[in-house]
Amino acid sequence: MTDYSALSYWHDSLGADALVPRAPLAGDADADITIIGGGLTGLWTAWYLQQREPGARIVVLEKEIAGFGASGRNGGWCSALFPRSTASLARQHGLPAALAMRRAMVDTVDEVGRAASGAGIDADFVKGGTISYARSSTQVRAARAEVAEAREFGVDALELWSSSRVNAAGARGASFDPACARVHPAKLVRGLAAAVERGGATIAEQTEVLDWAPGRVTTNRGTVTTDRIVLATEGYGATLSQTHRRILPLYSLMIATEPLPDAFWDEIGLAHGQTFCDFRHLLVYGQRTADNRFAFGGRGARYHWGSAIQPGYDRSDRVFEHLSTTLRELFPTMADATITHRWGGPLGVPRDWHASANYDPATRIATAGGYVGDGLSTTNLAGRTLADLLTGADTELTRLPWVNHRSPDWEPEPLRFVGANAGMAAMAVADAEERVTGRRSLTARIMGPLVGH
Ligand SMILES: Cc1cc2nc3c(=O)[nH]c(=O)nc-3n(C[C@H](O)[C@H](O)[C@H](O)COP(=O)(O)OP(=O)(O)OC[C@H]3O[C@@H](n4cnc5c(N)ncnc54)[C@H](O)[C@@H]3O)c2cc1C
Repeated sequence: MTDYSALSYWHDSLGADALVPRAPLAGDADADITIIGGGLTGLWTAWYLQQREPGARIVVLEKEIAGFGASGRNGGWCSALFPRSTASLARQHGLPAALAMRRAMVDTVDEVGRAASGAGIDADFVKGGTISYARSSTQVRAARAEVAEAREFGVDALELWSSSRVNAAGARGASFDPACARVHPAKLVRGLAAAVERGGATIAEQTEVLDWAPGRVTTNRGTVTTDRIVLATEGYGATLSQTHRRILPLYSLMIATEPLPDAFWDEIGLAHGQTFCDFRHLLVYGQRTADNRFAFGGRGARYHWGSAIQPGYDRSDRVFEHLSTTLRELFPTMADATITHRWGGPLGVPRDWHASANYDPATRIATAGGYVGDGLSTTNLAGRTLADLLTGADTELTRLPWVNHRSPDWEPEPLRFVGANAGMAAMAVADAEERVTGRRSLTARIMGPLVGH
């Protein structure tokens, strides 16, 4: 049997006994709502549907175990981030719609904490905010611009911090966003699966969906005849023929250190609940875990031909080395602290970097995703929104601008391969360029809009 505790530090900390798979689908079945994918999108949708439509027969079909995908492996930033900026949403959908989306995202951070506690889940949720270190004059300008833009839109409560408040090496200041909580992602997603099951849903693990059509979902264990369907496979959608070009799987990789003493955390000024990053283009992100480790991740792993997803792609020595070096650069006093865990996983990128939550009443098929690296909280908003859409409710949520947004398909290969990897390389070049020139990168300005940065 697969040892799922090897998937990430988070899974390891739960232990193998907590990850024993549930029973698969026992042959053909009937359901009111069938959810494909047992990550946070699928499970939050089930959770809110249980409140909107009590007694609905809900079946969640999961190829591996609930929380196998990005939902169990991520950086644990429960943030108000959305892959498209408010300015860009305002250009596309108008200012009122963009502001409504922003407010919904900020509110979602608290809703995750509220709902998790209502479901009896202790996921180490502490809302301590995000510190984004500015470590060069270019990054200080970027921090100022970010705070100024937030103030202009008036929804976020971003602050500018001076260098005296931050202790990362070389930090000349920071922006601080209070709208972010630190969570243990595997505790959240596994706890949610248990809560949904207690609420009467069936979670069939080790059950691979092969195909679907209105009213029917075919798996390797039998066919479910169903009234409504929810597609919640995020990056894995690229492995299914019907959604292959709708989403691009991009890998994010992470490391975790051994627990570090309280004196170290006091010295670097990171309190429990705080998450951190800096203003480089090739994103890095970190948190102080409840047991005092760094969990630290970043992009930079290459995109694989044909949008392939394989266990071996979860690991890249080059990226792990880069993460370890970067973390030590940021916090040199961690010195030779041991890196105890290394892992990664695929997130999902839509062609226009615009997440969406969609429902087609004609086919009775719903889908949500395309969160890029910002899905931990957004999946909760998706779950509430899909629950409203699937039950025919007209609410503030169903009028948000990401509802029924249709992203274009990705190009076929080889264009997709060339474009995705060129975008990634460009962001690394942009960071080097800024270090040398001390000015905002021209490469980032040209390539940024293409890679959604
Ligand atoms: C390393 C990493 C770090 C990240 N850090 C953060 C962060 O700090 N903050 C943040 O907001 N976001 C972060 N993200 C992104 C976030 O984790 C995702 O956006 C979010 O978890 C997506 O949830 P989901 O339920 O839509 O997809 P997933 O969690 O990927 O779930 C999809 C599920 O579908 C299942 N599945 C696939 N194919 C089939 C099939 N054929 N049949 C049945 N089931 C199938 C998979 O096994 C999987 O369990 C990170 C992602 C990664 C990989």
